[in-house]
Amino acid sequence: MKKVLLFLIDSMMPQVLERCIALKKAPGLQFFMERGQYIPDCVTVFPTMTASIDCSLVTGVYPDQHQVPGLVWYDPETKEIVNYINGAAQVLKIGLEQCATNVLFDLNERHLSKEVKTIHEELEESGLVSGSINVIAHRGHKRHKVQLPVALQAATRFKRQVKVSGPTIMSLGTLVKPDIFRPITWNWSQTLQSSYGINDAYAIDVLIEVVRSGKQPDFSLVYLPDNDHKLHRSPGEAVEHLAEVDQQLVRFLNSYASWEEVLEQNVCLFISDHGQTVIGDSQEHNIPLEELLNEFSIHRLGTEVSKEHDVVICNNERMAYLYPVHEEKMTALISALVKEKRIDLIAWKEGAKIAVRKGGTEQTLRFWKGRSYRDPYGADWDAEGDFQVLGVHLNDRELTFDAYPDAFSRLYGALFSQKAAVVAITAAPGFEFISESAPTHLGGGSHGSLHKQDSLIPLLVAGTARLFPTPARLIDVKSFILQELAVQTVPV
Ligand SMILES: [Zn+2]
Repeated sequence: MKKVLLFLIDSMMPQVLERCIALKKAPGLQFFMERGQYIPDCVTVFPTMTASIDCSLVTGVYPDQHQVPGLVWYDPETKEIVNYINGAAQVLKIGLEQCATNVLFDLNERHLSKEVKTIHEELEESGLVSGSINVIAHRGHKRHKVQLPVALQAATRFKRQVKVSGPTIMSLGTLVKPDIFRPITWNWSQTLQSSYGINDAYAIDVLIEVVRSGKQPDFSLVYLPDNDHKLHRSPGEAVEHLAEVDQQLVRFLNSYASWEEVLEQNVCLFISDHGQTVIGDSQEHNIPLEELLNEFSIHRLGTEVSKEHDVVICNNERMAYLYPVHEEKMTALISALVKEKRIDLIAWKEGAKIAVRKGGTEQTLRFWKGRSYRDPYGADWDAEGDFQVLGVHLNDRELTFDAYPDAFSRLYGALFSQKAAVVAITAAPGFEFISESAPTHLGGGSHGSLHKQDSLIPLLVAGTARLFPTPARLIDVKSFILQELAVQTVPV
């Protein structure tokens, strides 16, 4: 049986991929595209932020089941702001130690629901070997020692012997090295400035070494993050940024006797986690959340959430979770938000229903799990109100989405990822939320929203005769791979 390789290229967008190939700047990706199935409109998870998406990729479910709501979120039970490292200023306020604990340990061992299984857990329970290279969601049945860099050891109280779980073959930059292989020759890609090996060059170094060792796992998930960082800064050079990712893929292809041999031995999939939207240059493209909510007492980062507070802000760039500390303030909070036209959507729970309002209007749509309508992915819903809020088209009992792909399941997934009362807001195209110490990208790229610009990703499948089912979603990748490896899927 062939091995399966899944490459996760952060912020790769379909139109950029197509342009890059048309300009002959991506020979590696072109090689796979010419020999495989290309899906330009695969739908990712909401919020369109890496942490919750990675969890969906490895578990095959939306956040209502895996319970990781986003990159930044709040747990009212423990009164803890969770930040899997977004924005240096925010991380310093919350505390490096807490954020490092969140991303290194809590995400996999505490937050990711035990009710769902990762692809690594399922494969290894079936007697196969699984591998994870630099992916932050990596829960598995083996324990791996984390070797913290000296700078992190000094800044935190981490003990040297801290361990995380993962599949048999596991790499997390220079922090967790696959210990059955010879060490990768030290180079610049392993320095602090290069995120201790969480970068494309190091990930490909590890992959090449894993394959050469003769111990390549049946499945390997490889995360390539560089494209995201570059796009945030200079979205106008998107093609050049993706071309640089391609150079790393070519390095991998060249490690075989021939490129064709790669597909003789492997099924290769390439997917992105989300797109990016270009943010306007001027200050007005930042939607200032504290200003907008100035009638409320807003929790400050780095302090305890107390009864004196009205709202906790968790900023996920083009999306934000707002948590009312007192549920009776929910209505007032929503009223303050609907005045703002730069807010695209405002969504919240009403019992088992989701209510969504378009910013700056009175238009509201409510939907819930039911039986009146069926969406293109086979889920059944009931709905009432203004379908235009989410641009939903109705044809008898078939409903279809356009501007907000798979809108019902994805909003449901985000809002029901927690029991707590919470309001989810998204920014209109060209805008981004700004709040205390949050990163901002005026004139750059950003993401997080439900809109198709942030939500449609390319999916490439090569080396198998099987076709990926369409319309495609990122959450369906896991079962496709399990089937490819002839593993019976266990319903959760
Ligand atoms: Zn990003």
